[in-house]
Amino acid sequence: DTGITRYTYDVVVIGAGGAGLRAAIAAREQGKRTAVISKSLFGKAHTVMAEGGAAAALGNANPSDAWPVHFRDTIRGGKFLNDPRMAELHAREAPERILELEHWGALFDRTADGRISQRNFGGHEYPRLAHVGDRTGLEMIRTLQQRIVALQQADAAELGDPEARLRVFAETAVTELVTDGGRIAGAFGYRRADGGFVVFEAPAVVLATGGIGKAFRTTSNSWEYTGDGHALALRAGASLINMEFVQFHPTGMVWPPSVKGILVTESVRGDGGVLRNSEGRRFMFDYVPDVFRSQYAETESEADGWYDDPANHRRPPELLPRDEVARAINNEVKEGRGSPHGGVFLDVSTRLPAEEIRRRLPSMHHQFKELADVDITAEPMEVGPTCHYVMGGVRVDADTAASDVPGLYAAGEVAGGMHGSNRLGGNSLSDLLVFGRRAGLAAAAYADGPGRGTVAGEAVDRVAAASARYALEFLKQGGGENPYTLHAELQDTMNDLVGIIRRGPEMAEAIARLDSLGERSSVLSAPGDRVYNPGWHLALALPNMILVSRAITAAALEREESRGGHTRDDFPAMSAEWRRVNLEVRADRADRVTLARRPVADIPAALLALFEREELSKYLTEEELPEQDGADA
Ligand code: FAD
Repeated sequence: DTGITRYTYDVVVIGAGGAGLRAAIAAREQGKRTAVISKSLFGKAHTVMAEGGAAAALGNANPSDAWPVHFRDTIRGGKFLNDPRMAELHAREAPERILELEHWGALFDRTADGRISQRNFGGHEYPRLAHVGDRTGLEMIRTLQQRIVALQQADAAELGDPEARLRVFAETAVTELVTDGGRIAGAFGYRRADGGFVVFEAPAVVLATGGIGKAFRTTSNSWEYTGDGHALALRAGASLINMEFVQFHPTGMVWPPSVKGILVTESVRGDGGVLRNSEGRRFMFDYVPDVFRSQYAETESEADGWYDDPANHRRPPELLPRDEVARAINNEVKEGRGSPHGGVFLDVSTRLPAEEIRRRLPSMHHQFKELADVDITAEPMEVGPTCHYVMGGVRVDADTAASDVPGLYAAGEVAGGMHGSNRLGGNSLSDLLVFGRRAGLAAAAYADGPGRGTVAGEAVDRVAAASARYALEFLKQGGGENPYTLHAELQDTMNDLVGIIRRGPEMAEAIARLDSLGERSSVLSAPGDRVYNPGWHLALALPNMILVSRAITAAALEREESRGGHTRDDFPAMSAEWRRVNLEVRADRADRVTLARRPVADIPAALLALFEREELSKYLTEEELPEQDGADA
């Protein structure tokens, strides 16, 4: 009864968020037979939860905006650790991808003269986020799904079968990639509804599985985000980079306990919301770091003036990049100036008329009313940091999204490099479109090309049989531990020992605990049958979370500096030497990771010239700095 259903495709896309759907559309448009697999219901992904918007230098709200300015903001936000080629492609292509979405039917909010409206967000010099109220991701997913349906209708008309070239496998979780001779040959998984096994033969696989947030206790991420794609890539022989950089969003709900961690969109601050401590002080003015000092307001009146007259005022410090704001909130709470439930106050009620708040932030209004009985048009919210996004991911080629395993591609949150040490808000939704499309195109080309792996039926059968046997072990009655207990211990370990502020000895302790959790995870029990057995599903995902947590912790212990989403209490400064280093993680066994140092690619001189020499000197070593003369070109 381990019966395994077998499918054959040219391109298999794992994940149906923005990156996966965009990749699938691209592969199908190249005429490839494409499967899209999603662990959750079709349409349910992080992308659908995205609130604030998608960053693209359309220049609608401020004509001075252009891709080089977006590039510069992205590099600043990532503290100069970004893959420069990815940041360049992203900034250049994001406007085209947004206009394409509009062409496919996305209804963005409008400026008075009818163009796509753009809103302010942390770290972006100009209003840049194309948005739909605070429900942008919903519109993005709706549009991409509609495009998929349109392609299926075209196939129905031409071939008599809507799924002839593009089929969605919803509620199907991939647990293993199949490789043969070091190349991709397919993927194995199970259907959540009935526990039936599936195996896909395919020369090309695109990973688009999103994030890892469920390894942490307090997170804005939902149940699917167990780092599956990161772990699948490691086990298939690919490498991950930047895993030490985990973004803690400054504003998650802190109360009531059942909803702790749920996101409070940055749009609240972008639209005028201010942060105050229990003494009523607008404390962000106390936390503007030197590298950003010249760009941020020093007084409340200057900050307030910026909303209406940005040309003559500097930005409010509430709109510093996320890592800065999260650390500041953490510190205020630690020093005893927090709100009653251990956060700080975020207030938009004194800044905008109630009607305007309901119009611009409808989801936030609803969320606080329903979940916390707080009316944000009349009172402040209580907020605190929450694990939100992983900058680290599969090391990919910028132009093709190819990993170093032939046939394996990665795009979206599961890929690394684009955001350096810290992602700017809004840069993920545009990243999904830019690199999802590139991954789909490259996977399609590879599936045709002479270099593709011959899909070896034998390797597929072998991996499928072994994976099925492994999965079924967990269903045996008794003897093993409860996966929920282990998951809670893992989340506590990561939150408390590898969280927003890190220390060497604590991370060493985390590694010891992860070793023990790793051992215990091989003897889990999820008794019951295969029909919708969430304990069983968690048992299958736990080893992925533990492996990813090992990658995060090993890299975080190794990097002896503080930068972006990696703050070391014992190494508080940013180091120009460490800026040149990417930590690359591989798994030499399913339960052990190794680290290697790789140089960060140089920013091409023409793009380096976008920065003043004085700013560069805060990041780069003396020998990397451009000559005095050309510096300010
Ligand atoms: P996701 O959208 O996360 O989709 C992953 C897909 O992979 C899902 O379909 C899932 O089911 C599937 N999957 C996972 N594992 C498996 C497996 N083993 N087998 C099969 N399928 C699998 N970014 C912005 O730019 N702007 C915003 O305003 C914004 N707001 C956000 C608000 C919230 C609440 C959150 C949580 C994030 C927000 N982000 C925002 C970040 C952004 O939404 C995500 O980074 C982005 O959507 C990730 O997209 P993705 O396509 O990589 O993956």
